[in-house]
Amino acid sequence: TDSIDSSTILTRELKPNQEFRFEVAPNTSITIRLTAGTAGTAELFGTELSKGLPYTFTCCKSAIYTWTGCSLSIEGSPSVEYIAEETPMATYLNLHIALEKLRVSASDCPPTTEGAQGPRILLIGPPDVGKTTVAKILTGYSIRQGRKPMVINLDTGGEGVLSVPGTITAASFGSVMDVEDGFGSSPMSAPSAIPVKLPLVYYYGLETPEGGVKRYKRLISRMAVAVNSRLEEDIETKNTGLIIDTPSFDNQTNGDLISYIVAEFSITTIAILGSERLYNTMLKSFSSTANMNVIKLPTSGGCVDRDIPYKKSLRDATVKKYFFGDEKCTLSPYTISIELDSPGFSLWETVDSLSSDKRNTSFLPIGEDESSLQTGEDDVVRKLGVGYVDSRFENLIVAVLQVDAKDAGVKEVSESAVLGFVFVQEVDEKERRMKVLSPVPGRVPAKALLVGKWPEGMFLT
Ligand code: ADP
Repeated sequence: TDSIDSSTILTRELKPNQEFRFEVAPNTSITIRLTAGTAGTAELFGTELSKGLPYTFTCCKSAIYTWTGCSLSIEGSPSVEYIAEETPMATYLNLHIALEKLRVSASDCPPTTEGAQGPRILLIGPPDVGKTTVAKILTGYSIRQGRKPMVINLDTGGEGVLSVPGTITAASFGSVMDVEDGFGSSPMSAPSAIPVKLPLVYYYGLETPEGGVKRYKRLISRMAVAVNSRLEEDIETKNTGLIIDTPSFDNQTNGDLISYIVAEFSITTIAILGSERLYNTMLKSFSSTANMNVIKLPTSGGCVDRDIPYKKSLRDATVKKYFFGDEKCTLSPYTISIELDSPGFSLWETVDSLSSDKRNTSFLPIGEDESSLQTGEDDVVRKLGVGYVDSRFENLIVAVLQVDAKDAGVKEVSESAVLGFVFVQEVDEKERRMKVLSPVPGRVPAKALLVGKWPEGMFLT
């Protein structure tokens, strides 16, 4: 007898240029196959499906597009599924083709000249208009073309790309992306789209740039320098250029930040999704900038607003995956104890200027006054006395920075890249130690530790 309950297998026939859109609720999963004998091809946000292979999806809203027409079989129960006839894929492909022309001319230049620099595209717009999706599609197409794009994620409030939420990341991709997981989220667990080198990771630790504009900008500048130095060692990536995804910029107040990003990354194309007004503002702001293209991209009708609980479950899943891996690659994290009184212990926190805690001194350990806090004139991060470390830190993420604990000052901590993350399981105030979960065994190295306020309310069990 048939071991699979055939009543749960759906077959969907797609005509050319149609897409199969589906949603899968958290805690359920479905498997989709491009039918083995089908004549056509299919792709998920720019990455081709292999015929007959099962792809498993959980907690996602997604679409499989076909240029040729194809047949799909779906096992399990999606919470939403339909076939859409109208999609903006042809426009996205045209954009890819335009970028590819620029890459061809960049590759024709001698490596040392400015012209060898491929196009650098910035995707901006309100939330849930398809910025991340377009970044995936452009990345997928350029990889299929044999290119090596550098993909940068500046959206700290999202689900986390290549690392945990709250980070800004960059990596150059040289092989195909993972159909199920896009860019991937855990550098430790055989990330899906395999970055050529370990990703560059900075931990910002707040949801939006507004909470700490100064520090956010500082990290943008550090990232730009780090990215440029990688490009100098890697001519293929330099020729391919940058694809940059951003947090939601939907009004005028972000104009300054957008200009900052454009300048730091020497952007050559600004693509706006989902806001005519933002498009016009950008046209005006950059009309006199030489070699700058400002373009408007259509949003797919498949783009869905993701509500707060759904976004939280995506973030939680990313953090969980960082420590525990997934079905394809299970990780066993280690529980490590950190002695709070050990010499050189250096714990810092991200300052959120929007929150009331900015000038609040109640976090001071008993017996210490404000002068024992090390803060810079811009107050972007601050050092915490060990007396402050209590159960409030449980279930938070702590970045282990590259800067040594002994060298840590406000400037170093606020700009340092990240080595890795630990998760605070328990703070034992009496024994003066905290128990953390770490993806690597051994001691937590004697580095400055930075605790963020984002992602919040995580429970890893
Ligand atoms: P943004 O980056 O602007 O916030 P996303 O690209 O993340 O927006 O898209 C919002 C949501 O819509 C995501 O869950 C994404 O997977 C989904 N989505 C995007 N395009 C489609 C599509 N064509 N069909 C189905 N879902 C889609």
